[in-house]
Amino acid sequence: MTLTDPKQNATHVVLSSHSRQSEPAISISWGEKDPLKRGPVVGTIANKSDRNVIGTHGGSYTVYRALSIASGNFPSDHRPDLDNTEPTVIIDPQPSWFEKGRIVSLDPWGAHVNLVYRNFLDQGISIQPTIAITQAHLTLPEIHEAIKSKRLSVDGDIVTENKDVRVTKIAIDPVWHLPSISDRFQIKESTLRKKLFVETGGMFPELVTRPDLEIWLPPIGSSTAYVFGNVADLSNPDKELTCRVHDECNGSDVFGSDICTCRPYLAYGIEDAVRTAQRKGVGIVVYFRKEGRALGEVTKFLVYNARKRQPDGDSAATYFHRTECVAGVQDARFQEFMPDVLNYFGIKKIDNLHSMSNMKYDAIISSGISVINRIQIPEELIPADAQVEMEAKKAAGYFSEDEAPDIEKLKSVKGRNLKN
Ligand SMILES: [Zn+2]
Repeated sequence: MTLTDPKQNATHVVLSSHSRQSEPAISISWGEKDPLKRGPVVGTIANKSDRNVIGTHGGSYTVYRALSIASGNFPSDHRPDLDNTEPTVIIDPQPSWFEKGRIVSLDPWGAHVNLVYRNFLDQGISIQPTIAITQAHLTLPEIHEAIKSKRLSVDGDIVTENKDVRVTKIAIDPVWHLPSISDRFQIKESTLRKKLFVETGGMFPELVTRPDLEIWLPPIGSSTAYVFGNVADLSNPDKELTCRVHDECNGSDVFGSDICTCRPYLAYGIEDAVRTAQRKGVGIVVYFRKEGRALGEVTKFLVYNARKRQPDGDSAATYFHRTECVAGVQDARFQEFMPDVLNYFGIKKIDNLHSMSNMKYDAIISSGISVINRIQIPEELIPADAQVEMEAKKAAGYFSEDEAPDIEKLKSVKGRNLKN
């Protein structure tokens, strides 16, 4: 990575891997209870001497920011004006924030910048929040349908008179503490840093040249939590809690593509989260930008074609095998980090977990959160072409109350071909 110092000539570039490096002025002590001793995450490139992380803010959007600056539409030394951007709901510090290894992939103080790091801001240090919290109404056809079918009622509070759902939205950017991440994966930190450096085509030399910088802002997508009911109730184990942890599937979630169960699962999770809030519990749906099992949409569509062009057609019996042939793995989502968001809110137990995935369930349980009921999607909400995915998952041991299909049943479950 190279950094352009705005105070220098615009063509002067400092190679971060070769220049004389000094210790960051503001150090970070991950997991420290006092936020001032913990120290703020400073990812600004406006003044590189203030930086104490590898990478910068905005995940993959960093590239668009660079393009705006290159085209002269955006000043490179822009400092965000944070007036009135404070969270609409303050998340109180939770014991989980300070437990070693509990939270490794987000900054629990990320929403509190204006509140706890005021002094740094006043000194002119540009600190950007990595978490933002706001309020919204959701208008969803599935919720209207649930009201029409009398599965949900209008209560004038969680569900408004015009059938909107009131929600608190929490956007969370990734902030990775590399020593804790390597601990969670049980690999050496130097091995982790080397692999991240090499496998990203050498995008971040500081991963290997600056072991003193323990935080990386990776160029990946963010996560968003949608909370129905009172946010503070998430940490109260006396309140019933319904949870859906959902990995992005743009084709289904947004466009209604029927090859998988993603949007029906998401919508049913929202519906049940709303119902829980209406009976004085609390619901949370966390949306992770990990498209196509974190393999990306191009890989996903290649797999769809490979599945549907098999001599015997798209079959539940070969569902996972075809993904592995194209992508090298069945799944690259690494649910190990997913529970960090739940721990951020201080969640201790989940009454109703909407997921069939054992990877998700195991990750949640091993992060110290208990799960009482696992909820599978009702049969009538599964699109016809998604039966291949559903039966393959049941056979692979995904959670289901139904009996796992045998090989004959698996072979008999077929999806549409490409021409229909
Ligand atoms: Zn999907």
